[in-house]
Amino acid sequence: MATTIQIEDNVTVGSLAEQLKLPVTRLIGELMKNGIMATINERLDFETAQIIVGELGLDIELEHKKVSAEPVKREKPVAGANAAQRPPVIAVMGHVDHGKTSLLDAIRGAQVAKGEAGGITQHISAYQVEHNDRMITFLDTPGHEAFAAIREHGAHLTDIVIIVVAADDGVKPQTIEAIRYARNAGARIVVAINKVDKEGANEALVKQQLAEQNLLVEEWGGDIVALPVSAKTKQGVSALLDMILLVADVEDLKADVDVPARGLIIEAHVETGRGPIAHALIEEGTLKPGQFVVAGGAYAKVRNLEDTAGKAIKQAGPSTPVVISGFKTLPEFGDEFMVLAGEKEARTKAAAVAVERASGAARGDMSSSELLRIISRSDKLQELPIIIKADVQGSLTSVADSLKSVETDEVAVRIVGSGVGVVSENDIHLAHSAGAIIYGFNISAAPNIRRLASRDQVSIRLYNVIYELIDDVKLELSKLLTDEIVEREMGELEVKGLFKTTKAEVIAGGEVKKGILKAPALVRIYRGKDQVGEAELVGLKRGPNDATDLAEGELGGINLKTEGRLALELGDRVEFFTRERVERTL
Ligand code: GDP
Repeated sequence: MATTIQIEDNVTVGSLAEQLKLPVTRLIGELMKNGIMATINERLDFETAQIIVGELGLDIELEHKKVSAEPVKREKPVAGANAAQRPPVIAVMGHVDHGKTSLLDAIRGAQVAKGEAGGITQHISAYQVEHNDRMITFLDTPGHEAFAAIREHGAHLTDIVIIVVAADDGVKPQTIEAIRYARNAGARIVVAINKVDKEGANEALVKQQLAEQNLLVEEWGGDIVALPVSAKTKQGVSALLDMILLVADVEDLKADVDVPARGLIIEAHVETGRGPIAHALIEEGTLKPGQFVVAGGAYAKVRNLEDTAGKAIKQAGPSTPVVISGFKTLPEFGDEFMVLAGEKEARTKAAAVAVERASGAARGDMSSSELLRIISRSDKLQELPIIIKADVQGSLTSVADSLKSVETDEVAVRIVGSGVGVVSENDIHLAHSAGAIIYGFNISAAPNIRRLASRDQVSIRLYNVIYELIDDVKLELSKLLTDEIVEREMGELEVKGLFKTTKAEVIAGGEVKKGILKAPALVRIYRGKDQVGEAELVGLKRGPNDATDLAEGELGGINLKTEGRLALELGDRVEFFTRERVERTL
């Protein structure tokens, strides 16, 4: 019987090996076989661990160490005596097509109607809406991948996760993933049972499925609020916002405003004429123009401070999403930012982080789903290693998503690295060691980087149109495809005479019934409906002479080379064909 071992989510490689009583090198080796370059301190999510244990063929079952149904208390910044109430920070998650986008639109639509959100730009990743004279901050993440990236920080960031479940579809795998995320982040969960306007909507069933995930709704004695809504008719949307404010009150969300500002970079891109622009969510403190901030390896003197609608602001407090210009280089999505006393401190700190990052092993992150995909594929699979760099997280996600759609069972891209920002030296090193092509979308590459690339024979390909980038990748993938072997029919002959039969050769005569026969070719021999043998046509005769071809209606001789004895009989039908190699494209 299989032994059961309980492991936590995000277990380290070292700890997993220990629990499995395996040498850690064996585990690392298995991970490498599956395309994951992991060190002993690397963390694996539960699914990855499960897949790897399966691959190792161990008679061990992994069990998720139970997460309490009670929300884990988040590590909030400890608010001092002067702490002020702050808006709640909300993320909306759920299964695809359950209506996350529609619900956010419905929530924001109310604002648009009020004429307050006119300046929303394409890349907003957080915004505030006003409800009952109070602000609510929404994080708009393009997908669960983005969530994974801010998960660590998200623990401090997201107060409430709205889990959207379609009333006509119920709890699905991504719903469960979202619930797990929310719990790990220690966020309060509010369930929006969406699409209640639809026929087939079954609220009670959804509640029951939620209960199976340890989310017991209030009316059944639990503490989870689940509200029926319709993003389409806007039914329940206002009540949902009421509820969010109520939950926020219960949580008593406060933060200091009179401390140096701190928070998280949630988007960064380069804007023509403005340089690096960062979107950040302030967690505590008050940010003002003119202050010095550091975020990862980048620092800035805050030149302009704007709200996400593009309006200049003089200061921004906790839970406010802001747009900061003035960065010298581009910070990264997920970087924590903080205000430092002066330029020197900011520059020194940024440089230290940049050096640390550059020396850290650059590696491509791989999610468990990607791993599953790889494992479930046949050995035939050929991969094209690539690195993607893009101007903003949004385009990065769309490029990566589009690339998934061009893969087949035989060829696929393997994203060994990706990031927002220009092509860096690190990218070149990584591309060199992984044999990867660097694709850039809406970004540039500095001359020194190009020189480095050409020295290391790394190909950098920059595109501004996503389809052109995809076409280039397709072309590269096509090169990996093995040639297709195509059979072409040549003709048919009916056997009318047998002249010679040895172990390796048959010479026979007959009438060409179809096509034009030419040697060399391949043949299949049929007796009635059954195929009785295969051979190779090595020569043709017309009368006593060799012939180059025999056309339909002609009588002639065929010389077949056989492997083993071929018992040809009068009346057999011989089909002639060739096999050709044909290059394939995607
Ligand atoms: P997402 O993938 O979770 O962001 O889902 P979307 O917001 O894109 O919605 C998926 C589909 O469901 C779209 O066709 C929406 O029009 C539809 N939809 C979303 N909310 C509702 C709703 O409340 N009622 C109905 N009838 N359809 C909805």
